[in-house]
Amino acid sequence: MEQTKKSHKDFYYILGVEHDATSQEIQNSYNDLYEKFGPHVAASTIDPEQQARTFREICDAYEVLMNPEARKEYDKTSHTIRQTSDIRALWGKIARDKENEAKKRARPTADMDQVQVQAQALLMDIEISLKEAVKGTRKQFIITDPTPCENCVTKKPLERMQCDSCRGLGYFNVDRSVEIDLPPGLLDNTELRKTALGRWDLRAGKYGDLILKIRLREHPFLKVDGKDLHCVIPVTIYEAMLGSEIQVPTPTGKVAMKIQPLTQQGRTYRLKGLGLAGGDMHVVIDVIIPKRLTGEEVKLYRRLQQLCEEPNPRQEMFDKLANLH
Ligand SMILES: [Zn+2]
Repeated sequence: MEQTKKSHKDFYYILGVEHDATSQEIQNSYNDLYEKFGPHVAASTIDPEQQARTFREICDAYEVLMNPEARKEYDKTSHTIRQTSDIRALWGKIARDKENEAKKRARPTADMDQVQVQAQALLMDIEISLKEAVKGTRKQFIITDPTPCENCVTKKPLERMQCDSCRGLGYFNVDRSVEIDLPPGLLDNTELRKTALGRWDLRAGKYGDLILKIRLREHPFLKVDGKDLHCVIPVTIYEAMLGSEIQVPTPTGKVAMKIQPLTQQGRTYRLKGLGLAGGDMHVVIDVIIPKRLTGEEVKLYRRLQQLCEEPNPRQEMFDKLANLH
């Protein structure tokens, strides 16, 4: 299986050498690639998983091309050469990262003398409920740290390739559980930065920051609009006409709200401070017309209709139409 997979990659392309490259050229190229993609750059500039896969490719290519017998065999079977490799995408990414880094450096900073290697921050999305956003919560995270392989940490890059423990990567990924308090009053898209609570950075030799991006989970009735919440509340015609006190849902439970007599369809009530982080909650009244009536109800409604002193609601409309020429 492994052999078939290998033969589909262009080892010369992966190592960035010509097809007639000498062993020395292949060696030099490998050394350069090791500097760019080796385990020591893990978790700092590249997505570790992609990095591991790509470094594996480099090792595979190196292993074959440095072995004269294997190389001869490979040359025979690999005339259909494809330049499709993860490495191409990765090179693009590295070029972009370098550019961004250069841009960042170009900006004047308060502490220009600082030449310490900054540990790469780890960005994680976290979804929380509205209740958690209002009250705060404690969340558990699993963070994967690259941990140097004891077997080969002191060995030279090329010797690392022979390491059976880590398959030449130079490190293991080790999960670590972290518990973090989220303060009350969080909003959607808030970013919380927790100093040195992120992933271990092999290159910097310290923990990076953890940046938590807050996402608010959708609520079945409460719609989020910045700090404000919107909610449509169905009420009966009796509640709307006579006024009443109803219960409305809030992020943390429910609250009583007074409806004025003769409340119109679509009227909005504002509940101050019941949104997120001091925002308001807006309650829109939706008057529900009964779906069936008993004979007795029909009789009473007819009686109410006779008693009604309201003008014809369409009168104004037709008055206006009559004045159109
Ligand atoms: Zn190892």
